[in-house]
Amino acid sequence: MLKFTFRRLRNSIRIIGPSKNFSSTTQYERIPKETVDCVVIGAGVVGIAVARALALKGRQVLVIDSASTFGTGTSSRNSEVIHAGIYYPPNSLKAVLCVRGRELLYRYCSEHEIPHKQIGKLIVATGYSEISKLNDLMNRGNQNGVGGLRMMEGYEAMRMEPELQCVKALLSPSSGIVDTHSLMLSLVGEAENLRATFSYNTTVIGGHREGNHIYLHISESKDLDNCNGEFPLHPELILIPKLVVNSAGLSAPALAKRFNGLNSGVIPVAYYARGCYFTLSNTKIPPFRHLIYPIPEDGGLGVHVTLDLNSQVKFGPDVEWIAGIDDVSSFLNKFDYSVSANRAERFYPEIRKYYPHLKDESLESGYAGIRPKLCGPGQSPIDFVIQGEDIHGVPGLVNLFGIESPGLTSSMAIAEYIATRFL
Ligand SMILES: Cc1cc2nc3c(=O)[nH]c(=O)nc-3n(C[C@H](O)[C@H](O)[C@H](O)COP(=O)(O)OP(=O)(O)OC[C@H]3O[C@@H](n4cnc5c(N)ncnc54)[C@H](O)[C@@H]3O)c2cc1C
Repeated sequence: MLKFTFRRLRNSIRIIGPSKNFSSTTQYERIPKETVDCVVIGAGVVGIAVARALALKGRQVLVIDSASTFGTGTSSRNSEVIHAGIYYPPNSLKAVLCVRGRELLYRYCSEHEIPHKQIGKLIVATGYSEISKLNDLMNRGNQNGVGGLRMMEGYEAMRMEPELQCVKALLSPSSGIVDTHSLMLSLVGEAENLRATFSYNTTVIGGHREGNHIYLHISESKDLDNCNGEFPLHPELILIPKLVVNSAGLSAPALAKRFNGLNSGVIPVAYYARGCYFTLSNTKIPPFRHLIYPIPEDGGLGVHVTLDLNSQVKFGPDVEWIAGIDDVSSFLNKFDYSVSANRAERFYPEIRKYYPHLKDESLESGYAGIRPKLCGPGQSPIDFVIQGEDIHGVPGLVNLFGIESPGLTSSMAIAEYIATRFL
């Protein structure tokens, strides 16, 4: 696959020469500039899907990512579950884009031979006090247009899954799993075939507004490595796109705050909730055939059972609220993804509520992901935020904030939404 590095990006701009059509404030006068059609900031699953959708509409797309390849952020640190669309308030973006995204994703995976499986999911009540919450989930799912939901008595669910313990369960047959890396690889390949360009090791460090244009400030990632995040950062080149999609995941709000001329009042406060996974060791046959989810908890969906396409069993993610990091570290994805083995102690009792035969010392540290949240501990969940000019007043800028779960499932629907609303 073509890797368009920052140096190549800069060299091509040197050959073209600085754009003469744009005046510039003295501060940035000497910095090379180039006009481009569309820039997508972030090559996670959402940014890549957006790039493909824009390219399909005939637009010239440049995708910029600070990392050395695509999908190194949250997109490779999640449960890889195709969600049905049960949990989210009716008519919210999460509900609408999850249901539509699931449909688009299954179709895309089938047509492009992306490994995936519609294995179905059981959301389980392990005590009688949880049954009303299960009923609420069923009603909500039905309102959201999730088809095929069925409430089951505990004995029925336990007959289906002999290792399971529960008093009632909600079966969601349309939930499934997907190989996210293969999905992203396919979307990148398709976007590149449509002449989209991916520039890796390239960081957007901020921007400013001149007239009706946003000027993006670009640096080579390695030049930021020793930077302690102090202001101001000096760009090595400036891009002047007609359309910018800020799909920088965990750093999208921090980056938007660095767009001089964008009203900071429209940028939501970012919160971070780390989720750790543990894998089940020494199992030849997985104990479950379906995804098993408890009733959702504050900040997440609860420590659930996920199977990957190699039948490895994962438990997680838990919820640990963490503090943010400085802007540059966040652009370079220097978040703490370590999984302390001690956290397993909290997993055993949670898992044994629905899987009582889980053996002592059977859990091994897996990986961690961080949820890009817009609400803090104890606060009500907040919807995806997709902001265009109508909200922030800057032509040609689309900000994506809080693209947490079900962002993977919704990725192709978010892309469709942007390509139909903002072009
Ligand atoms: C623990 C966990 C479990 C989850 N499970 C599921 C699930 O089962 N199903 C589901 O549907 N969703 C799930 N999600 C949500 C899903 O993973 C995300 O919504 C999705 O991956 C977000 O993709 P993204 O492209 O927005 O962000 P990311 O994948 O984080 O991509 C952002 C990209 O931007 C780049 N970047 C950042 N700053 C800059 C900058 N300044 N300049 C250039 N590049 C920059 C980064 O390098 C990164 O590649 C889960 C999330 C978590 C944390």
